[in-house]
Amino acid sequence: MLKTIAKLIIFILLTVITQIGGVLYLVSSVLIGSSAKWKFIKRTAVFIGLYLITTFYIVPVIAPYWGREKIVETEFLEAHSWCYTLANRSYVKPQLNRSLKEVSEAFGTKNPGIKLVYLDANFPFIDGFPLLPHLSHNDGKKIDIALIYKDGQSELTNKKPSRSGYGVYENPKNGEFNQTVVCKKQEYWQYDFPKYLSMGTTNDDISFSEEGTKQLIGIILKQKKVERLFIEPHLKSRLILKSDKLKFHGCKAVRHDDHIHFETK
Ligand SMILES: [Zn+2]
Repeated sequence: MLKTIAKLIIFILLTVITQIGGVLYLVSSVLIGSSAKWKFIKRTAVFIGLYLITTFYIVPVIAPYWGREKIVETEFLEAHSWCYTLANRSYVKPQLNRSLKEVSEAFGTKNPGIKLVYLDANFPFIDGFPLLPHLSHNDGKKIDIALIYKDGQSELTNKKPSRSGYGVYENPKNGEFNQTVVCKKQEYWQYDFPKYLSMGTTNDDISFSEEGTKQLIGIILKQKKVERLFIEPHLKSRLILKSDKLKFHGCKAVRHDDHIHFETK
């Protein structure tokens, strides 16, 4: 009984984090039966092998049949961490892939060496299957990207302050509107929950670049196929951003002063 519960928990966790991991875990349990010698080690080895082959060689080939593609990384565009690709969290509809390419090229051309850094996108399969903790990243049209930072010499840098990419906030300054206080007063306790997901802070020598972030957002908003962009209200005011595409994500979501979210039609 305990073993079944443990298996179920592993299955759910692997599915929530990687979408395909749970199924592959079941497959490896079937391939290495319960009577096998060194069962745990063999199953783990088979699972890791199956998972890596499926993730890097099979899913990228079959995802397009479900309407999604792996994000094409270039000299202008990369994931914040290899964990995003390892966990199959880097799939988008072809339109979003094109938009990412165009935005990153335009931004990287204006700022040589500076990349568009993406975080969570979508899983490869099944519309409606959420990529937790983001409930809306379920259709291939949504992506989170990192803010832009500058180094001690005020030059733009590709470094980011959060190891995971989330949870290190560019807080409201004195006098700026504080959406987090408002949402937490309304008992939306999850609004700043990603502070627990940063996996630690790093690169203490960098600071938020208003100019770089504003320029990047400007390029994104110019894209005809981009429908909406979320950023925390105090940053929208600080960067003097104006566009019908800028929407407030609501207190049921999480704060957007550690990353930008945008979506295509
Ligand atoms: Zn998002």
